Amino acid sequence: DAFCRELPKVELHAHLNGSLSRDTMLELKRFHVDIGVPDKTNAFFDEFQIGSGDMRKLADCFQVFSIAHTLTNTPQALEMATNLTLQEFQDDGCCYLELRTTPRDTPHMTKASYIETVIQTIQKSSLHLTMIARLIVSINRSTPDKEVEEITDLAINCYKNYPDVVVGIEVSGDPTIGCFQSYIPALQKARAAGLKVSLHCGEVCNPQEVLDMLNFKPDRIGHGTCIHPRFGGTDETWTKLCELKIPVEVCLTSNVNTKSTPDYESHHFKYLTESEIPVIICTDDKGVFSTSLSQEYRICAETFNLSTSKLARLALNACQYIFADDIRKTLNDKLLNFINKNSL
Ligand code: 5GP
Repeated sequence: DAFCRELPKVELHAHLNGSLSRDTMLELKRFHVDIGVPDKTNAFFDEFQIGSGDMRKLADCFQVFSIAHTLTNTPQALEMATNLTLQEFQDDGCCYLELRTTPRDTPHMTKASYIETVIQTIQKSSLHLTMIARLIVSINRSTPDKEVEEITDLAINCYKNYPDVVVGIEVSGDPTIGCFQSYIPALQKARAAGLKVSLHCGEVCNPQEVLDMLNFKPDRIGHGTCIHPRFGGTDETWTKLCELKIPVEVCLTSNVNTKSTPDYESHHFKYLTESEIPVIICTDDKGVFSTSLSQEYRICAETFNLSTSKLARLALNACQYIFADDIRKTLNDKLLNFINKNSL
């Protein structure tokens, strides 16, 4: 436990509104009461958190984010949520975080002011945090085509104005909605502008879409659950991933709690590492799944019988796949120092 917390870790798959802890939500609720907003979110913790025995499946999970969204719809609350979440990742021993979030219009913010608020909060965090944070702009699959273009242009603009914060773009949201092909022009434009791309890939059984995504050659993919034939993929999808070796952001507890994977033991982590596909241990939504990055490392070690040295190397390897090229070496050195100091 202590080792997993002390190990400097790299988090590359964390959705802001899914990462709000119970403490952060309580603080936000208090803030809303303070500013006179009526509290319409009774019993929201029970609804927001999805534990291992929960009957809800992946498809039902997308509704829970609207609970968090009610608490982050003003610039002040969004800034508070971002700050508290960054602090929690740092307290858990995270040395580098790529936070992701979907720009959205609220009664108090436009998509542009939403994303500006998060960017400026991240920028200011460098004054009081040792953890380095960057931002990935999310596109939700439920977004109409016209807005996909708007978000992509916004991401490109923010990347130009804040190259020290914005590093990538990603596609998430309910995987049964929309079609990946329709995002390709927007993603190509973002990529041409210099943004890195990550895709939620293979969360549900859809081998054709998995192939289309892999053929796009994203810099990383999220989950990658239904790519191996054992989990609803095909020989072709698995062979393609093995050939391309695209790094996979692995979210163990998220996959187990949403029933995307039957249990930790049969998680595809095993198949990925056996085939030398790079893996990065991540949390996905630490608030929704009541987890932390150090807990995910601990679960991984316990389930797959990994030594502390192996765990440290998992963290070290993750440094290679961060989107901020300019700090890869600094992070790498930090991890190597930790490994040497602890004779791992
Ligand atoms: P936000 O982007 O509002 O900060 O974070 C919540 C959003 O992240 C959700 O509305 C959803 O679009 C996305 N998200 C969070 N967890 C998952 C996940 O496990 N799978 C997918 N596909 N999307 C997710």
